Amino acid sequence: MAAVQRLLRAAASSSSSSAAAAAGRRRMATSLAPEQTPAGAPAFPFAGAERRRRPAHERNVQWVFLGCPGVGKGTYASRLSRLLGVPHIATGDLVRDELASTGPDAVQLKEIVNQGKLVSDEIIINLLSKRLKKGEEKGESGFILDGFPRTVNQAEILDGVTDIDMVVNLKLREDIIVQKCLGRRICGQCGKNFNLACIDVKAENGLPPIYMSPLLPPNNCMSKLLTRDDDTEEVVRNRLRIYNQMSQPVEDFYQKQGKVLEFDLPGGIPESWPKLLDVLNLEDQQEMKLAAA
Ligand code: ADP
Repeated sequence: MAAVQRLLRAAASSSSSSAAAAAGRRRMATSLAPEQTPAGAPAFPFAGAERRRRPAHERNVQWVFLGCPGVGKGTYASRLSRLLGVPHIATGDLVRDELASTGPDAVQLKEIVNQGKLVSDEIIINLLSKRLKKGEEKGESGFILDGFPRTVNQAEILDGVTDIDMVVNLKLREDIIVQKCLGRRICGQCGKNFNLACIDVKAENGLPPIYMSPLLPPNNCMSKLLTRDDDTEEVVRNRLRIYNQMSQPVEDFYQKQGKVLEFDLPGGIPESWPKLLDVLNLEDQQEMKLAAA
């Protein structure tokens, strides 16, 4: 529960004034170099004595997935979460759950999300804290975060309350990402995600060819497919523009900490999943899981 309280306190202090943001930047300048922040050392004023970081070998993985909207963070993060037995927490899903509710923020959120803009750090951290609290109550440990942090401020807040072990940065050409976003569908009944786009890009200008087969729904989902309101071409391009502006610096933030694993997607799931397991040294884990199934 302590991690949740720290996150909420951090959110409150970050949204209260620009001085807090400046303080965050100062903290970053003085405390983010790994050799200066040994596990367990209280580095941030708001965390105080209660900030206790468990060393990585005593807990489950704490990973972050970065990458443009539509690159496939959700697909690979959820597969890895099943493989490693840690929760996959996608802030986009938390936002959509809130939109579907009658909560006080729903109307304001809908307007922001449908324009492809980011919701405020305060709202997103409140949603994330609620989700973490529920998980802690159920005894969850570790996480794979998808869609968070999306701003340097969010990354600083996260750094203030817990240790991130690794950041996987998924990369794919922007023209392909747009096609993939426009092909995304969700079944209105079972909630599963599909993709109708068939990507077949020839090699050009020194770039390799890329083939990604569509992820088609079974017959019983076909007539219930929905398109997200924020998956129109205009909104997708706006989300990409905002990603480049707001989230690229998050990549730089983690690069400076030496935590980023860059992964260029070589194609669809059949080509990318084994390669990802290979670079993460997780093939054995996958084999053990398959053997036990
Ligand atoms: P995508 O599938 O395009 O990556 P997501 O499903 O992650 O998008 O998020 C959908 C929307 O939810 C975003 O466009 C944004 O409005 C909001 N959102 C999700 N995560 C965050 C975040 N960390 N900070 C601010 N807004 C967020």
